[in-house]
Amino acid sequence: MELEGSKALVTGGSRGIGRAIALELARRGADVAINYNRSEGPALEVVQEIEKLGRKGFAIQGDVGDFASAGALVKQAVADLGGLNVLVNNAGITRDKLLMVMKEDDWQAVVQTNLGGVYNVSQQATRSLLRNRATGARVINITSVSGMVGVPGQANYSAAKAGIIGFTKAMAKELSKRQILCNCVAPGFIETDMTDELNSQMLGEALKMVPQGRIGQSQEIADVVAFLAGPGASYITGQTIVVDGGLTM
Ligand code: NAP
Repeated sequence: MELEGSKALVTGGSRGIGRAIALELARRGADVAINYNRSEGPALEVVQEIEKLGRKGFAIQGDVGDFASAGALVKQAVADLGGLNVLVNNAGITRDKLLMVMKEDDWQAVVQTNLGGVYNVSQQATRSLLRNRATGARVINITSVSGMVGVPGQANYSAAKAGIIGFTKAMAKELSKRQILCNCVAPGFIETDMTDELNSQMLGEALKMVPQGRIGQSQEIADVVAFLAGPGASYITGQTIVVDGGLTM
């Protein structure tokens, strides 16, 4: 199995895209620690699914937007897994509002969780990734097409997601010579609780712009993340792989 021996941490692994990523990494042979913030029950179910696949699974509570909490969850993941060589920064939130009515709190919460979270976790995981680079160290950050094209009503989210792309490129330039490869995956519209918040009329309009004519599934993101975590992606770093059914071509 291509990820045999890998030890992966997936933030926001209790639901949606993060859940699918955690299970796909386990299916390909990795032991996986998932982080969650509020959804303990669903997180424990994901751990059970990982164990059914014959891998070790761990659920770790922590708020990625808080530096101390992120440090504690990284430390716990490294202890549980016995090391760390794959980090998937997936945790994210939305608080969509037009800029004219966007409150400071809507801005802070989204930037702090989505972009601050990537810094908080990556910064505190880098030493462990360096120690475990012999097995091929990878950081995969989940950004969004919103950060590439800008979406009305998402100034906070588009800014944070664009920030992740710049962050990933800088990290890749710092760490690629030391065998830590860093990339982004940018999903388009994917069917999760996050897109459930859009009303059906908005979603219908949005899907008219997707050349493939349908919403994407979490598994379709997980497959790309698992590829980037594996040996087939050994000469890819600093890139953003767009998975959006052709939306932004
Ligand atoms: P989701 O179903 O709402 O799940 C979000 C996950 O993030 C949950 O596991 C949640 O954990 C976790 N999370 C939220 N705040 C957190 C925090 N402060 N600390 C730790 N974990 C936290 O969302 P999703 O659609 O799967 O999105 C996953 C990622 O893909 C996000 O980065 C999102 O921006 C990105 N994305 C999604 C889409 C889409 O169409 N769905 C498109 C582009 C990009 P708890 O439930 O435990 O709080």
